[in-house]
Amino acid sequence: MSLTHHRRVRAFIGLVAALAAGAAVAVAQLSEGRPIVPAQRTTLVIFAVLLVIGELRTLKWMKLHDGGEITTSWAFAFSILLLPAPLLALFAMALASTVGDLSHRKPVERAVFNLSQTALSLACAALVMLGFGQLDALVEHDRLGPLWFAAAMAACAVMFLVNGLLTCIVLALHEGTKVTAMLRRGLFLNLVSDGALVSLAPVFVVVATRSVLLLPLVVGVAGLVHVNTRSALASEHEANHDALTELWNRRAFVNRTEAELSERDRARGCALVIIDLDGFKGINDRLGHQVGDRVLVEVGRRLREAQRPGQIVARLGGDEFAVLITDGAGADEVTRWTDAVRESIARPCTDAGFPVSLTASIGIAMWPEHGADSDVLFQAADLAMYGAKKTGNAVQMYRENGSANATGRIALLSDLEAAIAAGQLTVWYQPQIDLLTGDVVALEALVRWEHPRLGLVMPGDFMPLAEQTDLMDPLTRRVLDVALRDAARWRAAFPSVRVAVNASARNLHDLTFAKAVEQALLDHRVPATALELEITENTVISQPERTRAVLDALGAIGVRLSIDDFGTGYSSLASLRTLPVQAIKIDRSFVKDLADDADDQAIVRGIVDLAHNLGLETVAEGVENSRSIDLLIGFGCNIMQGFLVERPMPYAAAREWLARRESERLAGDLVYAPRRLPTRQRESR
Ligand code: C2E
Ligand code: CA
Ligand code: CA
Repeated sequence: MSLTHHRRVRAFIGLVAALAAGAAVAVAQLSEGRPIVPAQRTTLVIFAVLLVIGELRTLKWMKLHDGGEITTSWAFAFSILLLPAPLLALFAMALASTVGDLSHRKPVERAVFNLSQTALSLACAALVMLGFGQLDALVEHDRLGPLWFAAAMAACAVMFLVNGLLTCIVLALHEGTKVTAMLRRGLFLNLVSDGALVSLAPVFVVVATRSVLLLPLVVGVAGLVHVNTRSALASEHEANHDALTELWNRRAFVNRTEAELSERDRARGCALVIIDLDGFKGINDRLGHQVGDRVLVEVGRRLREAQRPGQIVARLGGDEFAVLITDGAGADEVTRWTDAVRESIARPCTDAGFPVSLTASIGIAMWPEHGADSDVLFQAADLAMYGAKKTGNAVQMYRENGSANATGRIALLSDLEAAIAAGQLTVWYQPQIDLLTGDVVALEALVRWEHPRLGLVMPGDFMPLAEQTDLMDPLTRRVLDVALRDAARWRAAFPSVRVAVNASARNLHDLTFAKAVEQALLDHRVPATALELEITENTVISQPERTRAVLDALGAIGVRLSIDDFGTGYSSLASLRTLPVQAIKIDRSFVKDLADDADDQAIVRGIVDLAHNLGLETVAEGVENSRSIDLLIGFGCNIMQGFLVERPMPYAAAREWLARRESERLAGDLVYAPRRLPTRQRESR
């Protein structure tokens, strides 16, 4: 696909070069008999110098399409043409274009195209003047008449048309978009800026032939026009681009996407990719905004590096990027490309002064399958991205029938408030087992939404959104209420099994939270020591002062605190030491492949060692594999939780499970029976 694509671009450039050569020969033949160098040599030299300067200081437009540019050179090239020195005009223009491109380090292919297309455009203008028989009219003043005016207008028009058309065709070929769309965007800009200057060309010639000394005045005017256009273009660029990364901004990207989709042939698919960095907030908070900014710039650079023709790359804001893929690539091809992008982002970034590694979660939505208009397409890609974050699956394609995905997150969120009030949130429980004794030490409360239309919705589908709203407060209180009610019930038979409830960042920044917890404990007559609150690592980092106050208050009540998802943030264990926490839960990403991954083993062993030196218990979450158990015991890890023991289950099932396990324990045939203590373990206890 991209090979034939490339070939098409090359073939087109070859064609333009051939046409340019042909046109130059035609100009040479038609202007035979005239001296090649006109009488006004000084003027010629001045124009040529101005031409080259103009070409060296180009005005970039459509910067991210990386295509055309506006230069003042057309005006001076046209002036030389009118001197009249058509061949020299062609030559000077070609030379200036090549010098300009080389100094801007353009690829050879681009330089050849620019050289050919400028020469061809100018040659066409010369042919028009020659055709009207008006080439010499301007310098032989007596011959200047209405016909000259018509000829000059026509020559200018032809010059711009050919130039605009060729540039837009090559850009469209390059980007894989429609030529018409490109023309609409490109031609207008070309006309207002270049057009204004070129109309001054005859004035330059007349003035300069009168006296070269008058020339600076006119050139001054030309300079003003140039500067004005330049700042107009700059502000246009600014309005459409993100200042930090120089990528398109959200507004411009959304507009582009809308335009693209409305013009597009449905048979030629297109894809929207949303890329969100994982744990970026942690980088910002821990390492400072300057480092954060540099990381963003670096990610932008890597995206541009990975960018292929037909892709539009934008920063939507914060740590969110997006790419619109318009080259007609299918789902497989898009997935392969995003995989590569993810890998490129995952390369440690040393640009910040020291290595910072980050990962990204990427969601893909295909047009028109996953959404016919840009709104729906954005939502689909967004959902897929959240799915990727939730599953840790890095790259995810939108799936039509994945529970909540069918409606869209926004719609879900508006339902959530009512759902909390209507009691649609239920709590499931997943056991935590002491690795040495096999005893059940806790049940973790995990929220589920029994949605009337969608069925059971998992927290990953609504928590990320809820966490950004005020709904987190009522949600946590509701879960706490249900969990403590259930705990009060099971504690009658299993008094040593505590309940672990997840608290979110919002709760821990809320100074009234500890009071609410205390009240809930009283309401359900559950002792504080039977409650554990799990706090994700990043929460603690983001607002340390505030969080500390809340944690201290909770600690004072006697609630057990643990750090959840440990290892995904950027905190060091040492910084957690001063917090009133009793345990850390090692994130399941380090645990799931523990038996097969030496790196994970080293990490888990390190975390457990450090935690124990600091007097903290360790919980391994996400244990799926029985081969991990011996390793965990060997490391001295205290507690495990995971599908291997049991999946989360509703209260009734959890209650039955506790009873069954108890009878197995009494009968002595427990699957995870207490083990003999390894030596190392015995010493440290
Ligand atoms: P978490 O706190 O890390 O909870 C553990 C998640 O890992 C649960 O997903 C659980 O089903 C899953 N899990 C447990 N063992 C295994 C395993 O062996 N393999 C794999 N692959 N997964 C395992 P769930 O229930 O979907 O919850 C997802 C996240 O949603 C939780 O992650 C927690 O951050 C959040 N969450 C759930 N309930 C609540 C809540 O009531 N309040 C708050 N604030 N957050 C909650
Ligand atoms: Ca948890
Ligand atoms: Ca966790």
